[in-house]
Amino acid sequence: MSDLRELYQEVIIDHNKNPRNFYKIALPSHQAEGFNPLCGDRLSLYLSVSENKIHNVSFEGAGCAISTASASLMTEMLIGKTIEEADKLFSHFHTLLVGKDNIEISPELGKLKVLAGVKDYPARVKCATLAWHTYREAISGGVTVSTE
Ligand code: ZN
Repeated sequence: MSDLRELYQEVIIDHNKNPRNFYKIALPSHQAEGFNPLCGDRLSLYLSVSENKIHNVSFEGAGCAISTASASLMTEMLIGKTIEEADKLFSHFHTLLVGKDNIEISPELGKLKVLAGVKDYPARVKCATLAWHTYREAISGGVTVSTE
């Protein structure tokens, strides 16, 4: 398990140093700002969504390693997903971070599993979920795109 933890650490460090999809989409269909006052994490999330599909996701901002790595991993996971798939993923991710200890980890989580260790630090859960809450806000409050 400690080897696994080290591997997880490496992925988080890598995504913090070199966040993926770290730029602003030129004409996003949806966007939102996220702020975690407990830690000072801030991010802007940009989405390109049409016909119920997430074609592109990007973010900008500054925060702790957990929030940046989580946002970076989230963008990688969401690109190409439908809104329903993204909702499901968020629910699995949320369970991973706040669910019971012996919970079965959904294989759909993929690389997001590296954030499982955050569970042991409840104060950091908000750092890890900031990007996801910002995503939900963007989807529900952003510019509405016709899906018909
Ligand atoms: Zn943080």
